[in-house]
Amino acid sequence: MNASSLAESGHVIPSVHNPHEHQRRGTTVLESAKGVFLRDANGNTLLDAFSGLWCVNVGYGQDSIVKVATEQLARLPYATNYFGFGSEPSIRLAERLIELAPKSLQRVYFGLGGSDAVDSALRFITHYYNAIGLPGKKHIIALERGYHGSSSTGSGLTALTSFHRNFDVPLKTQHHIPSPYPYRNAHAGDDAAIIAGSVSALEAAVQALGRDQVAAFICEPVQGSGGVIVPPKGWLKAMRDACTRLGILFVADEVITAFGRTGPLFACEHEGVEPDIMIVAKGLTAGYAPMSAVMLSERIYQGMADGCAPGAVIGHGQTYSAHPVSAAIGLEVLRLYTEGGLLANGKARAPEFAAGLDDLLAHPLVGDSRHIGMLGALELVTDKATKAKFDPELKLHERLFKAAYDNKIVFRAFNDDILGFAPALSYTESEMALLFERLRKTLDQVL
Ligand code: PLP
Repeated sequence: MNASSLAESGHVIPSVHNPHEHQRRGTTVLESAKGVFLRDANGNTLLDAFSGLWCVNVGYGQDSIVKVATEQLARLPYATNYFGFGSEPSIRLAERLIELAPKSLQRVYFGLGGSDAVDSALRFITHYYNAIGLPGKKHIIALERGYHGSSSTGSGLTALTSFHRNFDVPLKTQHHIPSPYPYRNAHAGDDAAIIAGSVSALEAAVQALGRDQVAAFICEPVQGSGGVIVPPKGWLKAMRDACTRLGILFVADEVITAFGRTGPLFACEHEGVEPDIMIVAKGLTAGYAPMSAVMLSERIYQGMADGCAPGAVIGHGQTYSAHPVSAAIGLEVLRLYTEGGLLANGKARAPEFAAGLDDLLAHPLVGDSRHIGMLGALELVTDKATKAKFDPELKLHERLFKAAYDNKIVFRAFNDDILGFAPALSYTESEMALLFERLRKTLDQVL
């Protein structure tokens, strides 16, 4: 097949039904990548300012990852994680994660991606409460604008309308409280009031449902797909503490935020937060192979274990859980973050990234700039004083998408005119400068 027939072949289910004329651009077929640059089937070289889908944190073409993957493929391409079997890379990866993660987390379940990990976490929560004799605790509270994947259960915790429409979610046990969203919060500019507002919304939801009916609160430390919403400092800790007071579990969905994306290895580290459950994926293998992990506190694991008869089978797992090739890749990726210096490089680039985004606040289109580590967003508005949004009929994000491609830069343009950025931790100073040169040109073109 040539480049244009690949682009027009419609058999892989697309992300849009019946596209409008302006959306009919065909698939941008990616052929290869090196460092932070993608090459498409038309021969264009594009700067990746989004690390694939916020996952290729180490950049493309890392030879050491290719080497360990190839060696593992040759030695043992597959090992089941069940019936008493396992593999060295997955056991070592679990040990390493426990060493690096917040101390509360002592047990690891490996999945394939973020969505199935969220689903697994929900199954473990149900299992835990049933096992300890609190079977009424079924309700889960999440945040508006949250994203927790697209599994049949997790998609109900996701709070983006396209994930609910025609899918019969949220379930009756799934609830959402307002996002802290500093830019559009009624208490904008007053961090303490924003935090207090979230805490009292959680308290009110638990009170309305009944403490004995609520199992957990789940949140992203920084909301990603909802528009890169960075909560005020202290928010995460306040929510963790509220969960403890309310007798519900605190689940940190760090699928995007883990592995240096916000600075430290885990976003929970910013505030010394110890979750009951933490979900990671994406940066765990940096997109080089599918893998996720659900990390549980010892209390949850022991609760499940103690509540079951000795020898009872844990009826949860997938063929590709703890896949040895993914695990070998995960170990090497963790090495690159730590001994390989990528975590430190990401921290060195973060101030340049923040300054580049903040400089664009002077641009006529930009109402808000927000960032933490190597995760950031610009929110575009028609009027900076009123924060008025663009008329959706103008299809600004589609025009931006096209202009960005013409300027050879890839970032994410969300529906509501929020531009998301997640450059790899491997960015150099000159690549960061190039990102802002191309971004500014793109914004100028859609003015
Ligand atoms: N949770 C969060 C916070 C995410 O950002 C995502 C994906 O973007 C998921 C869960 C789902 O992960 P996946 O797409 O790997 O299924």
